[in-house]
Amino acid sequence: MENVSQTQQCPYVAKCGACHIGEKSYEEELAEKREYVVRHIGKYCSQIHDVAGMYYPYHYRNKVHAVFGKIKDEVVAGTYAEGTHTIIPVSGCFIEDTQASAIIQTVTQLIKSFKLWVYNEDTGRGLMRHILVRKGASTKQIMVVLVTASAEFPHKNHFVAELRRRHSEITTIVQNINDKQTTMVLGDREKTLFGPGFIEDVLMGLRFRISPSSFYQVNTAQTQVLYKKAIQAAALTGKEHVIDAYCGIGTIGMCMSAKAGRVTGIELNQQAVKDAKANAKRNNIKNMRFIAADATEYMTQMSQNGERADVIVMDPPRSGSTEAFVRAAASLKPSRIVYVSCEPETLGRDLAWFRREGYHAREAWPVDMFAFTECVETIVLLSHKSPDSVINVTVEFGEGEGKVPLDAIAERAKKYLPKPKITYKMIQEYIEKKYGFKVHTAYIAEVKRSLGLTMYDAPNAVEELKHPRKRPPKEKVEAITEALKYFEVI
Ligand code: SAH
Repeated sequence: MENVSQTQQCPYVAKCGACHIGEKSYEEELAEKREYVVRHIGKYCSQIHDVAGMYYPYHYRNKVHAVFGKIKDEVVAGTYAEGTHTIIPVSGCFIEDTQASAIIQTVTQLIKSFKLWVYNEDTGRGLMRHILVRKGASTKQIMVVLVTASAEFPHKNHFVAELRRRHSEITTIVQNINDKQTTMVLGDREKTLFGPGFIEDVLMGLRFRISPSSFYQVNTAQTQVLYKKAIQAAALTGKEHVIDAYCGIGTIGMCMSAKAGRVTGIELNQQAVKDAKANAKRNNIKNMRFIAADATEYMTQMSQNGERADVIVMDPPRSGSTEAFVRAAASLKPSRIVYVSCEPETLGRDLAWFRREGYHAREAWPVDMFAFTECVETIVLLSHKSPDSVINVTVEFGEGEGKVPLDAIAERAKKYLPKPKITYKMIQEYIEKKYGFKVHTAYIAEVKRSLGLTMYDAPNAVEELKHPRKRPPKEKVEAITEALKYFEVI
């Protein structure tokens, strides 16, 4: 196994600040990472496992970014020195994918030979801003995203042809236009210059499409370790309604879908939701739907509609979740919450909020996705607090004082027999017969919703309402309400 010893240190380590390779052994690092997790969540969780380390902790980053700049008239690609906007030219990074690093070097040379201007942050002039290379670890597909300050790209076709000639492994090239003075890498306009405009990767036997701006875990091998743990923690039996909140391109939820009744993925980024839908289709997953929305808002709405979730899986960004999200999650009364976090500090804060809602952290599994950096991913299983105490009651059956007669039990059991399921069709037929008019199922749903009754969405329900909900006319509301009473729904 290739190793990076103290004597073989990365020349950029002190300046670039992205990692601390060579400073300590990987084993020491894993022990420190566990302590870091304990420091932030130990108060809320007594069972914290050892960190699941990487088998090969080098060149694991499947996504590599570099910023273009100039040092003494020389075009360079690199990273900003920690906490500054000074560019450190980096080549041959120990944690980045080697093919991606080589492509970045080639593009830097091509910028010189095509005499393209690199962007200057201070003046706002120049064209080439950033490069982003993403690779599907299993498929070996490679996407190159060239971020430019304007749509005009002189010699574009020749540039693309030459890049492809030198790197036949590239499967798609995208131009992203970012004309704003911002620290964000990607802008919101895109042109596909070659290939399909996205790459695919295989994770736990499922195939995923990844677009330039979609989130995808950077360490594919460890993502499988992480997801397996999350699936185990969710302890699904095949019946549950699972919510995959902050779902990205739907990876976690889809990996769980075979073991769940149905899964609802909620994600804010529209492009990621598009990818997620395509991914579900491609993997023939029929019990998962995707909602393009703010997770808190959507879950609050679900709870107001009387819906529930059995398990919530949540994987928020580094900044963690919010108090409002925690409240919304608790209002859906899940029996388990699986929290996937990449930041122990915000995780600790959020666990305190969950505790207030009665959800306690039972077990935590840290997983190392980012060797030689400070970051560590953690999965926490939460469940609702068990009862404080148990009362034992002895009941005697038979005739006589203090005893429960057996015939009374039989009588009561009849009362508790499950009621037949009342379908929308039964309600429609009853109303048509009694009132002589038809009612639309949407009206029945609307009345049920307004009465706070439980709603069961079909797994293929549309996620965004195309038309605002219409209030049914008064006489129909009355007929539906009466029918619901007749069938003892209310
Ligand atoms: N679970 C996914 C993605 C996790 S990254 C995976 O493992 O690949 C976090 C995701 O949360 C990002 O895709 C981001 O767009 C999304 N996000 C951020 N804020 C959100 C919000 N308020 N509601 C829903 N999604 C949000």
